[in-house]
Amino acid sequence: MSAVIEVRNLHKRYGSKVAVDDVSLTVREGEILGVLGPNGAGKSTTVESIAGLRTPDRGSIRVLGLDPLRDRASLTRQLGVQLQDGQLPARLKVAETLELYSSFYPNPADWRELMSSLGLTAKVPYGKLSGGQKQRLSIALALVGNPRIAILDELTTGLDPQARRDTWELIEGVRARGVTIVLVTHFMEEAERLCDRVALIDAGRVVTVDTPVGLTEQARIEQRVQFRPTRPVDEALFRGLPEVSSVVRRGELVIVTGDANVLNAVTAVLARNQIVAERLRVEQASLEDAYVELTGKRGK
Ligand code: ADP
Repeated sequence: MSAVIEVRNLHKRYGSKVAVDDVSLTVREGEILGVLGPNGAGKSTTVESIAGLRTPDRGSIRVLGLDPLRDRASLTRQLGVQLQDGQLPARLKVAETLELYSSFYPNPADWRELMSSLGLTAKVPYGKLSGGQKQRLSIALALVGNPRIAILDELTTGLDPQARRDTWELIEGVRARGVTIVLVTHFMEEAERLCDRVALIDAGRVVTVDTPVGLTEQARIEQRVQFRPTRPVDEALFRGLPEVSSVVRRGELVIVTGDANVLNAVTAVLARNQIVAERLRVEQASLEDAYVELTGKRGK
């Protein structure tokens, strides 16, 4: 897959505060790349530099082969950005805003369709929108130009659970049309559901870039498999496996702990010995666990 965004050795400081400390990233065509990290990690500075909204101190950025600062005009047509605090005139109504923005683009999306899929009401003026509605309008504005790349910063912050799920569906639809998406998020569930790869950023640096599953494996968090065997089983069968770190019994239950592949290893042994596992339960490590492990900080 070809790269549509290439960030090399990006540096940015504000006064004496280093916000981005040598970030390099590649975003492939058609993927959703999540940018995940604690508050103040440098996520917004990084993605806003990609969008040409901030001027880096050092480093190079190419978006669709263009320089976001120098080629801003031609890039704007192909790049949709969800702004964090995009202020609009208070009296401008939702439909007017969308119609106006769609007129800026040569090949806009159907703004009425976007409006309804985001649950927005045409005639409400911007000044009367709730926080969540403003958020949804900002998503619509990022997508109304039918961009090749969309940069979404804190996509679903402030949305209630139903609106969040609806937004995820919308984003999946956008991805299905081949749009490349850079998604800054705090929500592990969002990253797990939407992202093909996740760049974990901490203190202005990229800690790692991997698939959500790869991240949980990297963090080497143990997984636990628990079951009741239909007939007595020799624990040594499991102890000898390279995937397994411990085996304990609790009453009728056998609890096997090990690496990311422990479930496969255990079920293979059971099948070979014709033992059925009843009440089988697996405690899988989540992206949240990986995040805590790799950054030492708790997500939301
Ligand atoms: P994130 O999006 O991960 O929360 P930011 O890129 O917004 O991180 O910020 C990184 C660091 O730079 C933070 O310490 C933040 O306080 C600081 N920072 C961001 N923008 C500015 C600015 N315009 N002026 C001064 N400091 C800033």
